[in-house]
Amino acid sequence: MTDSIPSPHGNKLIDRFVVSDKKNMQDMYTLQVSNELRNDIENIADGIFSPLEGFVGDDDFQSIVKRGRLSNGLAWTVPIILDADEQEARNIKDTGEIALAAADGEEKFAILHVEEVYPFDKIACAKSIYQTDDIKHPGVEKMVNMKDRLIGGRVDVIKRIKQSPLRKYRMTPAQTRAEISRKGWKSLVGFQTRNVPHVAHEMLQKAALNLYDGLLVNPLIGKKKQGDFKDELILSTYLALIDSYYPKEMVMFVTLHTDMRYAGPKEAIHHAIMRKNFGCSHFIVGRDHAGVGKYYHPFAAHEIFKDYTDLEIQPLFFPAFYYCKKCLMYSNERNCPHGPEYREELSGTNMRKIVGSGEMPPIHLMRPEVAKIIVSFNEPFVV
Ligand SMILES: [Zn+2]
Repeated sequence: MTDSIPSPHGNKLIDRFVVSDKKNMQDMYTLQVSNELRNDIENIADGIFSPLEGFVGDDDFQSIVKRGRLSNGLAWTVPIILDADEQEARNIKDTGEIALAAADGEEKFAILHVEEVYPFDKIACAKSIYQTDDIKHPGVEKMVNMKDRLIGGRVDVIKRIKQSPLRKYRMTPAQTRAEISRKGWKSLVGFQTRNVPHVAHEMLQKAALNLYDGLLVNPLIGKKKQGDFKDELILSTYLALIDSYYPKEMVMFVTLHTDMRYAGPKEAIHHAIMRKNFGCSHFIVGRDHAGVGKYYHPFAAHEIFKDYTDLEIQPLFFPAFYYCKKCLMYSNERNCPHGPEYREELSGTNMRKIVGSGEMPPIHLMRPEVAKIIVSFNEPFVV
């Protein structure tokens, strides 16, 4: 089979930006949304969540929860939803259109065409998406704390989120696809990350570059859990790494602004769909991809792709890379026969030690350009 860049999910790249505000938003009922939701609303408008044109209605919601697909059968595993309390729901129900405003100010930035307001079963939804109803799971906790009603409907976005250093590398699928076609690539591998880069990650990405035309390094920028690396640090360390160690013409560095959901296998599918919309033909799925704690089997995020053979983006299951002191190189369980006593890896615990002591990690485990940034960073972890 020859590689090719896939069409957007559902075959249509969604664009829900409207250039001018012809409607009078000032008179509209206004709902304030969190910064996280505003990010996702912009993602909808830019087609990152194609084919969604807004927040899902009850039919699609039920279908996603029950079978991991939209009501028309198209793969979709993480519902994109907008919640409201009882009072807001009553106000919104028959309005037709409402304005959406940022949580931190008065700015109205979008119109929501209200199609339905419906109740939802948080626990049933949590059990399906996160495979647990344990409140200690960050995704479950967030869902249980949502308001009681959901609002479905298409959105039209009028104002983009203000530019900032963190958003400098954000691109829309239309922009990445234009770049892919300019380069003439027939294959592009997407790499999801929420970590600072170790040499092991670099070797894995370069192993993919041996086989495909291009690499999309696509860190997730957004709300994360306590103990995860801060967004600023992920961004600056990757920029330093790419600058010194990557062939620029083969790599695209683009940030994706959405929350981690920690939904493990279901989120792996969601991550793959977003990368398909960016134009990736392949997507690297890690061990315990999008996992947290011990909620998912380490290979559950690989197994789930068997149920989604219609996805049109190929998952790549690389084994984890480690430095082998016997092979004297980066190896993995497929090509190295040596036992765990020869393996060198930077674990989370090691990383914490390094950060705490200010000591530089060995250069074969972490590039000095990267380590320097981490060591000099004031508070590298989300608290
Ligand atoms: Zn070895």
